[in-house]
Amino acid sequence: MKTSFFKFFIIFIYISTCNVYANTILSSEKYVSYKGGVIFFEISKNEYQSGYKLDEINLLVLHRNDKYYLLYGVPYQTKVGKNKITVSNNKSKRIFEFIVKEKKFDKQFIEIKKKYTAPSNDQLIRISKEKNTIGKYRDIWTSNKPDISFVRPANGVVTGVFGTRRFYNGVEGRYHNGYDIAGDETDYVLAPSSGEVILVGNFFYNGKFVYINHGSGLKSIFLHLSKILVKKGDIVDKGQVIGQIGSTGASTGPHLHWSVSLNQTYVNPELFLSY
Ligand SMILES: [Zn+2]
Repeated sequence: MKTSFFKFFIIFIYISTCNVYANTILSSEKYVSYKGGVIFFEISKNEYQSGYKLDEINLLVLHRNDKYYLLYGVPYQTKVGKNKITVSNNKSKRIFEFIVKEKKFDKQFIEIKKKYTAPSNDQLIRISKEKNTIGKYRDIWTSNKPDISFVRPANGVVTGVFGTRRFYNGVEGRYHNGYDIAGDETDYVLAPSSGEVILVGNFFYNGKFVYINHGSGLKSIFLHLSKILVKKGDIVDKGQVIGQIGSTGASTGPHLHWSVSLNQTYVNPELFLSY
């Protein structure tokens, strides 16, 4: 009799502890990020198996260290403070709350050829077509799970980080959505993770570029290359050479511009070097 009461008591304590723990996990305070950050929302195995969509966008779910996560790239436009997203699948809906903290982004002043700040009509037509093309590839979703532990795509001095406010010939343009590494024109650019080359080309602003789909909405693009050493449809391994650093397109000197997108939004590429 005594033993069973003792057992009951132990179970009761155990359940209480679980509840406290669960409440802690569900608290929005747990999820804190920045504009361009990536949040790992913890989910159940069932949720992992069903996956989730945010509006019509499929989201990346991962199984790591015996836990399941839904990864969400926080758009740069997200307001500072409390935010939430409502995700759904055909079985259920769930709301995830998170806090976006203030982050001071530096300003960078760049002098660039006038055609990049005041393109001609012909150039505007070209820019618009190229933007549409990139948009189509940006929206591609494949169900394969990406390897999110990236390697550096180039060695060299970091000359630009994510989020910087950029002024071109004195006028504020779009924020810097990638990570810049300066180098020589002979330096190789490596695939930071495995994936499929979904597009290569030579565009007005991008110059020569390689676009890689790592899977489940995670993609990398590499701009301003001097040489492209892969072709559309190639499957690349992590660390494989894909091109050489250059200064093609809207660039002021040889460097690699690397952008990463997740759930169709640009996120800070540097984060993937620490996962
Ligand atoms: Zn850049």
